[in-house]
Amino acid sequence: MKLLYMFFFFAIGITIGSIFNKIGKHLPNNEKIFKKEKCPHCGYQFELYERIPLFSYFACSGRCSMCNNRLDSLEVFNEFFTGFLFVVAYYVFGLSYDLLIAFGIISLLMIVVVSDLTYYIISDEVLIFFNCYFILITLFKDGLEGMLLHVASGLFLFLIMYLIMIIGNLILKKESLGGGDIKMMFTFGLLLGPVVGLFSIFVSSVIALPVSLLIMYTKKESIIPFGPFLLISLTLLYFTRFDINIVLNLLKF
Ligand SMILES: [Zn+2]
Repeated sequence: MKLLYMFFFFAIGITIGSIFNKIGKHLPNNEKIFKKEKCPHCGYQFELYERIPLFSYFACSGRCSMCNNRLDSLEVFNEFFTGFLFVVAYYVFGLSYDLLIAFGIISLLMIVVVSDLTYYIISDEVLIFFNCYFILITLFKDGLEGMLLHVASGLFLFLIMYLIMIIGNLILKKESLGGGDIKMMFTFGLLLGPVVGLFSIFVSSVIALPVSLLIMYTKKESIIPFGPFLLISLTLLYFTRFDINIVLNLLKF
């Protein structure tokens, strides 16, 4: 039975992952999200059965069926990784409200990674949608009072980071933190509580530092978006069930 559920959530994960690819690719350009995909080499319009997540890619060994050129493997990786994380989430949380929240976190992570890395933006629509989703699930999970407490801790963390940003801007005389990152703090307070929420920013920096240095060194890029790192640490902290000790052990290589 457990295996059946794992397979089911994997299938859902790769399907949702392929939708995230479309959202990440088309939404920032104000294009239609569900238009037919074309081969970037020969312009051939793929039939629907040629766009089945994961399977189609391997069925035609990653090549366009018309011109035989290689197709983008990053999208397949995103699909697979979303499916993989969905299965891990089910393994950790079982069938529970926490699982629904974990699915939301994974979705947010994948969308932000795609759009923040490509366009350096986290769109407000995405953040508003997911915050409403998380608030709704906590309402079912913890009742009205519990939900209000979550919202309060979300607002608390948002305000703290907003203050830090204002002070940072005054001292550095330039934008110190991205607006999208600050808005995301509401989600962090809501899901992790104020203490672990603050701690998650520290974890993000610890992960971001070596990765950023590596990217700057190899790709010579100077702007590294912080959003993906924030969400990686949110995922880590949520999946380890808020236990700071587990995360500290993970970071000790
Ligand atoms: Zn082609």
